[in-house]
Amino acid sequence: MENPAVNDSFIANAQNFRVLLENTTDIIIHANAQREITYISPAVKRIMGFEVTETIGKRLRELVYEEDLAKLLAEFERVLASPGITFTNEYRVKTKQGGFIWVEGTIINLMQVKGVEGFIINQRDITEKKEKAQELINSNERFLYAAKATDDAIWDWDIEADEVVRTGDGLKKHFGYDPVDASKEKEFWINKVHPDDLQRMIAKRNQVLYHSGESYWDDEYRILKADGKFAYIYDKGYIIRDKEGKPIRMIGATQNITQRREAEALLVELNTRLKKRADELVTSNIELERFAYVASHDLQEPLRMVSSFLQLFKKKYQGQIDETADQYIHFAVDGAERMKKLILDLLEYSRVGSNRDIHTAVDMNELLKDLFDLFEKAIEETGARIIIQQLPVIKANKTQVFQLFQNLVGNALKYHSDLPPVIKIDGKEEAGQYLFAVHDNGIGIDPAFFEKIFVIFQRLHNKNDYKGTGIGLAICKKIVERHDGRIWVESQPGKGSSFYFTISK
Ligand code: ADP
Repeated sequence: MENPAVNDSFIANAQNFRVLLENTTDIIIHANAQREITYISPAVKRIMGFEVTETIGKRLRELVYEEDLAKLLAEFERVLASPGITFTNEYRVKTKQGGFIWVEGTIINLMQVKGVEGFIINQRDITEKKEKAQELINSNERFLYAAKATDDAIWDWDIEADEVVRTGDGLKKHFGYDPVDASKEKEFWINKVHPDDLQRMIAKRNQVLYHSGESYWDDEYRILKADGKFAYIYDKGYIIRDKEGKPIRMIGATQNITQRREAEALLVELNTRLKKRADELVTSNIELERFAYVASHDLQEPLRMVSSFLQLFKKKYQGQIDETADQYIHFAVDGAERMKKLILDLLEYSRVGSNRDIHTAVDMNELLKDLFDLFEKAIEETGARIIIQQLPVIKANKTQVFQLFQNLVGNALKYHSDLPPVIKIDGKEEAGQYLFAVHDNGIGIDPAFFEKIFVIFQRLHNKNDYKGTGIGLAICKKIVERHDGRIWVESQPGKGSSFYFTISK
């Protein structure tokens, strides 16, 4: 249409003009002074579903959706009063199916124009635009609900205008500030950042904002709360950039991590204390072991002397003085013997672990075969029945593991009830460790003593009832601990005992 003259002549042709009207995508209406439709373009069929013939002769108001009618009638008063002026409104019109669609309607009063004497209305379908607007409302609503649902303080920073809109309950709840007031205040946040963190925080943020194509920023720093205290926060934001990559907006959320930080600090402190305590324990254990070794080793010599002279004394003077003297000699010899046994036990205990590094593959099935050869006599005497499951091959200190089983099986044979002993041994591989158990049907142990029996020289029985010094289980415990394992007992008096231990892989 470069040439207006051509255009004019085109319009001047009534036929052409009609073609134009009939093919517009909008609904074009002419209504007479009585507001009756005298002409409507065929677009009415596509947009509203009505045939042209169905609408001709109808009053304009009949096409309008009831709920919007009052509003339009009021507007129509102005149209009447303002000939030649166009009025535009968004309203709903009926569809043939009984629903409605949104249109943008433009109306002009041309009552005074000869040949027209009525109203010209143009109705454009704006369903899509309305849907988009609704979508926007929905997504805004979703954003607001999401802001409510999270405990974080939500912020939306217009970087160019340097304005921040704050939403959500988090700001008030965690930091004591009203989000609306805070949104009005320039530099609100920067003024709250802890002075020791400010420079580093800004540098890091600028690094992400201006020196890279990053779209995400996060940081941990402190901010001043309304109550005057500082809170540790985890702040993170999503950066929106323009086509050139310049940051224009950043939307983010601030999380209060003070409690987490305090818990972490406490944990670190507790760990340090624990480590110190463990170190002290290791030192004192080493010292104790050294002491036990030196004491037992050095005590042996004078004791041997006492013992042998007592033996000589006994040999020479027994039955030569009187009965009381004989008794004294007996007590002294017996005491020296017991002391010797205790010292040897102590020495043995202190020696566990002196060869700790020699770990080899140990086939537990073979180890137990050797062990039961050793116990052959005791098994025969007690009439014991031994049940051994297929056991794994483990990596361990063979001598120590042998000693461990020797003590446990020895006890199971020793602490039997009136019934012949039944001893069952099983073992299995677990995640990171092996679990073994020695079960017996012996006299059992009162749960009150479950801990005590593993302490060195602690016994539950008189030496006349059951022989022993109370070192066996203490040695077992030490061996198991050397293998990063654990040992414990499950038992009931009269119902037998089960000793469990683990060996770390
Ligand atoms: P000891 O056998 O020399 O007394 P242990 O350290 O081996 O020393 O055992 C400590 C105590 O635990 C024993 O005195 C005994 O009372 C109890 N005990 C150990 N093994 C068993 C068992 N299999 N059944 C019942 N009691 C047991």
